[in-house]
Amino acid sequence: MPLQVHQFPCLSDNYGYLLHDPDSGETTCIDTPDADEYLKQAGAKGWTITQIWNTHWHPDHAGGNAAIKAATGCKITAPVGDAAKIDEVDRTVGQGDTVKLGAWTADVIDVGGHTLGHIAYNLPEAKIAFVGDSLFALGCGRMFEGTPPQFWGSLARLKALSPQTLLYCAHEYTASNARFALHADPQNVALKDYAKEIAARRAEDLPTVPTELGRELATNPFLRADDAGLQAAWADRGARVGDPIATFAALRAAKDNF
Ligand SMILES: [Zn+2]
Repeated sequence: MPLQVHQFPCLSDNYGYLLHDPDSGETTCIDTPDADEYLKQAGAKGWTITQIWNTHWHPDHAGGNAAIKAATGCKITAPVGDAAKIDEVDRTVGQGDTVKLGAWTADVIDVGGHTLGHIAYNLPEAKIAFVGDSLFALGCGRMFEGTPPQFWGSLARLKALSPQTLLYCAHEYTASNARFALHADPQNVALKDYAKEIAARRAEDLPTVPTELGRELATNPFLRADDAGLQAAWADRGARVGDPIATFAALRAAKDNF
């Protein structure tokens, strides 16, 4: 049977995710913004939490680890580069490692930049990926700890996934991201259509997550820092034609002050 993703809002603008494998009965929390909410949602589904997969150390991603482990005895997998700041870790993983949920395999991808050790979990057979705060619909995470070459390398690894991959990002930031994307890339017709759809969904209080990678490749300015047209358009603002890292850095800095 296919994997089931249960998505629910928690804290102010986080999304909580429970990933359930009906065949094995295993359920993993993707991050733990709010222990009580996760335990409540799992209980309502009749699912028993057996694992936690953390993406990075920020408290709105790992703050519920101890309480959920105390309640369930689950096993916690966390990024090796952030693990010193994460509670109750059983196993550390990095680029190229795999994590199992029943018979399903998640590939660990290094997506450092928002934090140094940030990782994503990609399940190619299910065509889903949990990307935390590395990549958002029409945006990317703030570069709190990393550098532009590191962050661009992370986005390049995500760009290489199957374009049909559904990306489960950790926050509902899309409407604000769309405003910056339209400023960054105003002639992009696919982006204009996407922004209209986002506005309509948000007007009805519907989520804009998950988003499909293929659509992000055509519209997300941070994933398009290697696009010659965008590089040229931003050349007077720090970008350079032929230089995705400088272009990414210019876009990221502009978004910080937008
Ligand atoms: Zn974060």
